[in-house]
Amino acid sequence: MHTELTTIRSVLTRASGFLETVCSHSLQPYRGCPFGASLCGVGCYVQHSLHVTQGRRWGSFLEVRTNAAEAYQAGYERERRWARAHRAGFVIFLSSATEPFPPQEQRHGITRSILESMLDRPPDGLIVQTHSHRVADFRDVLVPLAQRCALRVHVSIESDRDRLPGLPPAASTVAKRFAAAATLRQAGLRVVVTVAPLLPIDDPDSFFARIAGVADAVVIDHYIGGDGSVGGARTRNTALPGAMAAIDATSVALEYRDRMGAIAQKYLPGRVGYCRDGFAGRWNPT
Ligand code: SF4
Repeated sequence: MHTELTTIRSVLTRASGFLETVCSHSLQPYRGCPFGASLCGVGCYVQHSLHVTQGRRWGSFLEVRTNAAEAYQAGYERERRWARAHRAGFVIFLSSATEPFPPQEQRHGITRSILESMLDRPPDGLIVQTHSHRVADFRDVLVPLAQRCALRVHVSIESDRDRLPGLPPAASTVAKRFAAAATLRQAGLRVVVTVAPLLPIDDPDSFFARIAGVADAVVIDHYIGGDGSVGGARTRNTALPGAMAAIDATSVALEYRDRMGAIAQKYLPGRVGYCRDGFAGRWNPT
């Protein structure tokens, strides 16, 4: 992993495409992602962005945006004004193109500095999106921040399996992510488990019952319709569909999402969302 310290001019990116109805801005404390070489990195759509990778292998580099908190403060008034005028409020997605709580965060503290800045200058809404159990270590700042803005923590748990055949393991085990979700919810935070992208689930009833015990809602997102390309074409070019099909051939069709969604509704009635509606907090009626 090549790590370098960088500075940026602006850290608040106006949302477009998939995120346009989810938030007004995305915010990336880092560029690149250390989890890129783990299970979630296999199908990660960010690896297809030349703007981000500049030809580098996904998971091989990390740019630490050392002035991210200052850049947030500098852009705050302007971007909040724009969001309130042109979108449904100043709602930030942290993060859509990196993991905000990678192991390197312990040393660099970039995400923490941003969250602390938000205590002084809160957005209207904040969606914290993570694949890491380390998010639970940030409840000391997330809990007071939830008093200042509408805050949801999205913990990605794509399956009850830690491994798919032939692919690297998850960076953070399923058990650790469940434990983190439980800790955050016990701290009074609003927690959503994002099953995104949906991977083959060994025991769907147990899985969604377990989610109902640690989260307020669940989002299910299949790579078909969820990876930003027509029919999941981007993901089809990765090793992910083959590994999914080796476990359950039906899991690579969109119908699998609907079947899992019907089971999820049993345990979280009225609190199941799909694709971008789910990420935006819009739940399907039972
Ligand atoms: S943590 Fe997120 S950004 Fe990083 S590799 Fe996994 S899916 Fe991609």
